[in-house]
Amino acid sequence: MNLRIGNGYDIHRLVPGRPLILGGQRLTHPEGLGLDGHSDADVLVHALMDALLGALSLGDIGRWFPPDDERWRGADSLVLLEQVVGLVRERGWQVVNVDAVVIAERPRLRPHIEAMRALIAGRLGVEPERVGVKATTNERLGPCGREEGIACHAVALLQQP
Ligand code: MG
Repeated sequence: MNLRIGNGYDIHRLVPGRPLILGGQRLTHPEGLGLDGHSDADVLVHALMDALLGALSLGDIGRWFPPDDERWRGADSLVLLEQVVGLVRERGWQVVNVDAVVIAERPRLRPHIEAMRALIAGRLGVEPERVGVKATTNERLGPCGREEGIACHAVALLQQP
């Protein structure tokens, strides 16, 4: 069996006047902040997409969904994730599992984790048991700790049966 692993990272600024969407879930930040970006700025889904693309050396999401392309303005990142999964499948690969950790001081993500896993699993076409989503604070250190942004690290394992 052929196996491939990929990793992904993303960070977006927290700003007023934007929605806060993580793992396809619309959340509420206590200060009313949201994530800035060309698409819906869902850092969790973006990091997962980069991990999937990285596993097959297909570059990064900027190559497939350029930020200066008007088609992706305000895009639902879960739709982009489905397109990335399509690229993986076209090449004869399947998702074994993915795992991500979101770095955010607020809001508390734990109440939303199961819903995020289910949504992502649906788009990946795998059982939720194969989708790990974790959350940590940055202990008030660095840009994530100062709530200047929210970041995410992710890995993806693929198999070619
Ligand atoms: Mg991004």
